[in-house]
Amino acid sequence: MLQKLHDGKTRTVLVAGGAGFVGSHLCDALLLRGDKVICVDSFLTGSRANVRPLENHPRFRLVEHDVCQVLDIEEHVHQVYNLACAASPPSYQADPVHTMMTCVAGTGNLLALAERHNASLLQASTSEVYGDPEEHPQREDYRGNVSCTGPRACYDEGKRAAESLCFDMLRAGRTDARVVRIFNTYGPRMQPNDGRIISNLLVQALSGDPLTIYGSGEQTRSFCFVTDLVAGLMALMDVDPNPGVPVNIGNPGEFTINELAAMILTMVPGRSKIVYRPLPTDDPQRRRPDIARAKQLLGWEPKVQLSQGLQQTADYFASVLAEPELRATPSRAKPGSNMTGALQIGA
Ligand code: NAD
Ligand code: UDP
Repeated sequence: MLQKLHDGKTRTVLVAGGAGFVGSHLCDALLLRGDKVICVDSFLTGSRANVRPLENHPRFRLVEHDVCQVLDIEEHVHQVYNLACAASPPSYQADPVHTMMTCVAGTGNLLALAERHNASLLQASTSEVYGDPEEHPQREDYRGNVSCTGPRACYDEGKRAAESLCFDMLRAGRTDARVVRIFNTYGPRMQPNDGRIISNLLVQALSGDPLTIYGSGEQTRSFCFVTDLVAGLMALMDVDPNPGVPVNIGNPGEFTINELAAMILTMVPGRSKIVYRPLPTDDPQRRRPDIARAKQLLGWEPKVQLSQGLQQTADYFASVLAEPELRATPSRAKPGSNMTGALQIGA
């Protein structure tokens, strides 16, 4: 059933980063519910292939734009989701200055747009704000253990600064800003080559290549299937009143990387072996969300088991590998790419 606003009009929702992995699933879900969707993306790590099925949809519009630059949209926008940011460690570290500017100037520009339209804004923050956590599992009131000088800082500290901008705009009564802290999410439409663990291991297993494990493989992560995440994002955007606090969204099931690799080798039988590689600098040792707040405020909890979600994702990568023209081809971040865009968040 299509959802309408109180005045019977269709809601217009802007999704920055809408051609990315999560963003494209969010665009699908918003269109399904009856909203108009304006997808804004620079195609840095996202791909036209992700939104190609939507291109002729009468309620879908694609705007190619880097959010570091000021953005103007003529038609009235009711909601803004800010998902625009490279998310895998290799892609956000490829041009760290641009990553930081995307987090800060980009979020500032979108907050300013939301303020002009009197729209709500949902900021996609991350479990990376907790860094290499000393408290486990991570609750939202834990302040984190982040290096501000290491190679992950462009992302971790950028996202922390973006949260701070959101809460300043909220406290000042300027924008109805909401912040979600997303834990590792996976599913169809991840880029096969984006370097994240689930895409790497599945593509390696399907190709008969060795599975690369960094460090001992005893570090842990908690993996959320993308449809569960999208349900959580929409629940936080729509809840009334604005909770005014960040909310963790993730699946609390916790696995070592060795356990994940073993599951994938069982699921994709073949000749692949495991090879161990050095652990990247500042790689967090463990991560698991405490989702009590999401349960209480949003009535949200994940539904998809890792084994189910992995099978769907494996099927997706198998089809991509079988038909390479389906393979998305994002342009990679180029060192020194333009990040001089004006921040429009004036006093
Ligand atoms: P993704 O790389 O697939 O998507 C990001 C999208 O943003 C891409 O389409 C990219 O082209 C676009 N983009 C990047 N910089 C941009 C810019 N300056 N201007 C306009 N568009 C830009 O990543 P994803 O996994 O879909 O992540 C979406 C959001 O969720 C990101 O903000 C990420 O930080 C956050 N997040 C994701 C995860 C996860 O596990 N997937 C975990 C924590 C947080
Ligand atoms: N990892 C790995 N092999 C890979 C890719 C990643 O062992 O081919 C490890 C990585 O070092 C980290 C975990 O898997 O400990 C999750 O990495 P990912 O890049 O997916 O996300 P992160 O949570 O580190 O941002």
